[in-house]
Amino acid sequence: MKASKYILPTEKENPADAVVASHRLMIRAGLVRKSSAGLYFFLPMGLRILKKIERIVREEMDATGALECELPILTPSDFWEQSGRWTAMGKEMFRVKDRHDLSYALGPTHEESFSYLIKPILKSYKDLPVNVYQIHTKFRDEIRPRFGVIRSREFIMKDAYSFNLDETSLDESYQSMRAAYRRIFDRCGLKTIPVQADSGSMGGSASEEFMVVSPIGEETLLLCNSCGYSSNSEKTPSILAAEKVPSSLPERKEISTPGKKTIEEVCALLGISAKETIKAVALRSEKKNVLVFLRGDLELNVHKLHSLLKIADSEPMTDSEMKELGLVPGFVAPIAPNDKIKVLFDRSLQKDIPYVAGAGKQDLHIQGFILEKEISGLPEFADLALAREGDFCPNCNSALKAEKGIEVGHIFKLGEKYTKAFGISVLDQNGKSRTLTMGCYGIGVNRTMATVIEQRNDDKGIFWPISIAPFEVTLVSITKGEEQYAKADEFYNVLKNEGIEIFWDDRDLGPGFKLKDSELVGFPIRITVGKKFFESGEISLYNRKSDQEESFVFSDFEDLVARVEALRQELFAGLE
Ligand code: ATP
Ligand code: MG
Repeated sequence: MKASKYILPTEKENPADAVVASHRLMIRAGLVRKSSAGLYFFLPMGLRILKKIERIVREEMDATGALECELPILTPSDFWEQSGRWTAMGKEMFRVKDRHDLSYALGPTHEESFSYLIKPILKSYKDLPVNVYQIHTKFRDEIRPRFGVIRSREFIMKDAYSFNLDETSLDESYQSMRAAYRRIFDRCGLKTIPVQADSGSMGGSASEEFMVVSPIGEETLLLCNSCGYSSNSEKTPSILAAEKVPSSLPERKEISTPGKKTIEEVCALLGISAKETIKAVALRSEKKNVLVFLRGDLELNVHKLHSLLKIADSEPMTDSEMKELGLVPGFVAPIAPNDKIKVLFDRSLQKDIPYVAGAGKQDLHIQGFILEKEISGLPEFADLALAREGDFCPNCNSALKAEKGIEVGHIFKLGEKYTKAFGISVLDQNGKSRTLTMGCYGIGVNRTMATVIEQRNDDKGIFWPISIAPFEVTLVSITKGEEQYAKADEFYNVLKNEGIEIFWDDRDLGPGFKLKDSELVGFPIRITVGKKFFESGEISLYNRKSDQEESFVFSDFEDLVARVEALRQELFAGLE
């Protein structure tokens, strides 16, 4: 490919709305352009990268025996009604109506569609297991599209769904996807960590997210350097030192705390630490009013709460909803569970030591509040707090370390949620009808591309892993006059005919500009044929990743091809 015949609108300046490296560089390198919020045009150079990632994903999926399909993006509302997600998906799902007033969604994910497709096809246990997938466009009306294609509203996802007879078979499919994901990300030159993730309240039994550690990540990962335990903080059990913090205010009495509604305000007023207080969190779900008490320095982990109560969602109670239940916002006192309110205590609280807690009356707290003395029939204390750095590792008790992470892939044992909703069953060995169990496995293709850039950029631009580089090699020629151009053309043609994937920057521009562009776009290998070649026969070979340039006198094409091939092999080997 010749640059003079290509579209490569590189930019010197950073786009004003780009706050992360990948977004800035994708625009500056001419890979993508913004269409509107969360929507991107892919230009030829960017599309080549995306297609190479897709090819790797496809090869590794096919190697596991998974079968590629392609389903309509437009999905009828009936499918979603059947699983109950027409409502549950809320505003994140783009919805459209056809001329007959029938409703559809632009698929944000395809559990329902694949279930509908597969149900009549599977008849016997002999048809199992089966793992079907597609690499296709997804739509999500994200509340905050950002970071370029990392969180966009239209993106490419590889989504796979396995249908299995039993838990053992599901685990085999799950493990084979887990192994394929490791190979896919390795081949893309992307370092990922699989972390245990919340498997939701709907009967999923295991779930892992493949995370790219990055300061711009929206997830918090808790990692153990001693034993290798890793999990999303949403999922991590909170294990704290069994601290019996001596209370500075042990004597039981009411204290006046006018207008002090937050833990911070109460602590500042009384000169105590948050660990000496009890925090109340009031929430409302479709079916339940919930009141959770935790040690004042901790945060509630709503995912744990939802799993425990088997609810899909919850919202903080408004002040008026609290008042209707007889609660005083800002001064809620620990109470026993009752008919109207589900009351839960986090296991960070000790039942036999004094705390400062709300008094259940306006502008008052109680000091010296001992749970077992104040509340008869204390329930079992549950794990409801958000784990954080420094907490104990659930495996080996070492201190956990926190990192920020971006999710690029997700594998999930779904259980029977969809197979029950769609009635997917087969006859087993004994001729008995059995409901299947299911797994789902996703990879964000565009997000993978962007996170590779997050991991592989410097002040010059991107340095692509050779496996997904737009072109493996670039030839930068600096020529004067037709004769010299014809010589460069010979280099290009010979290398191309040798099967080298080459992009020739033949544009009539200065050397500085062209070299900078090649480094910005990030071709792994660069051959420069310029002034020195025409003076003394010297050309150079540049390794973008190591930033090393080697100059040598050109002898013949056989030698040059061998040098390029050696560097190519070295770069591929470096990915393993
Ligand atoms: P997130 O928590 O980041 O919103 P998710 O849990 O909604 O992700 P899944 O439903 O598991 O994501 O989708 C599978 C994969 O699709 C994700 O691992 C991610 O790589 C990709 N993905 C999800 N949402 C987006 C998006 N808005 N833009 C680009 N890629 C996305
Ligand atoms: Mg999401």
